Amino acid sequence: MPGRDYYQILGVDRGADKKAIKSAYRKLARKCHPDVNPNDKRAETRFKEISEAYHVLGDAEKRKLYDQFGDNWSRVGAGAGAGQPGGGFTANAGGPEGFSYDFGGGDFSDVFETLFGQSRRAGRTRATLNKGQDIEHEIAVTLDEALSGTTKRVQLSLREPCQSCHGVGGRTQTCGACGGSGMQKQGGGIFNLGSPCPRCHGQGETLSDTCGACHGSGSVDSTRKLDVNVPAGVKDGSRIRVGGQGGSGAGNGASGDLYLRVRVEKDAFFERRGDDLHCELPISFPEAALGAEVQVPTKKGRVNMKIPAGTQSGQTLRLSGLGAPHLRGNGHGDQYVKIKIVVPNDLTEEERFLIKEMASKRTENPRSHLKV
Ligand SMILES: [Zn+2]
Ligand SMILES: [Zn+2]
Repeated sequence: MPGRDYYQILGVDRGADKKAIKSAYRKLARKCHPDVNPNDKRAETRFKEISEAYHVLGDAEKRKLYDQFGDNWSRVGAGAGAGQPGGGFTANAGGPEGFSYDFGGGDFSDVFETLFGQSRRAGRTRATLNKGQDIEHEIAVTLDEALSGTTKRVQLSLREPCQSCHGVGGRTQTCGACGGSGMQKQGGGIFNLGSPCPRCHGQGETLSDTCGACHGSGSVDSTRKLDVNVPAGVKDGSRIRVGGQGGSGAGNGASGDLYLRVRVEKDAFFERRGDDLHCELPISFPEAALGAEVQVPTKKGRVNMKIPAGTQSGQTLRLSGLGAPHLRGNGHGDQYVKIKIVVPNDLTEEERFLIKEMASKRTENPRSHLKV
């Protein structure tokens, strides 16, 4: 599992200064604080993430370490949290001075204790770091559904952590190679430097008994059905985030998020451009020449539209407010009606005669303005 991107969690770029990080944290913390969102597990999880990210990025030294360690941060942290409750361990930052920082000890849990009044607990660090995967899934909607909003049943095929063994793969025992610390011992003294134990990969535990339900893999195939609310005004390519409906986290880890990518199916009559709807309306030559009132299909039913006398083929008329609803804010786009004059191809003798009569009375040349 890749390390968490604390910068992404706080929504700041990697070069952000202390002030920008603090302000981003304050803004997010206000929004997600458990007091503001009582009984909202997702907000609580998010709040913990934010706090954790700020705890590291808000401290110049820790931030430097995080920048150096990258992905190792979560792997190393996971081993310590699970293997040595409250004990923690030190990791070498690589500098010649042998500077070390306690990844797995009281630091994070102390923060949480202060914020939530929870007691420090073994496995806590591991749980927060084993968040489930984010999933992307495509849903198709008709233009009507995209315009008026709908509820869609989504079926996801997932690889989920096995419930029988909680994603572990079987019964575990303390790793014999490292004695449960998750670290390969090298030297000793105050700075107990080392790298993750190769036998248990830093987990501090190895499998002693394979789980029958998942055959030791720790995960099983599963399907999940859920009804998702598609808001009015979504566009082709819109992404809808469904918090907590991604892959389940391992152990007590939070679930990932589900991202639904919306595909709007082509409509036979309407074409959407932004929040406007475009369509083509066939009218007859007499309607165009003499003017008429015709009916136009809109997404709010048929409406009457006045065709002015002398309307040309290709001319576009606007029906105000009959487009798509604006996704944010009020109001609608417009509907644009492009006129297409239809020429009859089944004239009777009498009709041919009448048209010829009319033509003989007209002297204009519609191509007179063309230079070539
Ligand atoms: Zn080990
Ligand atoms: Zn299992």
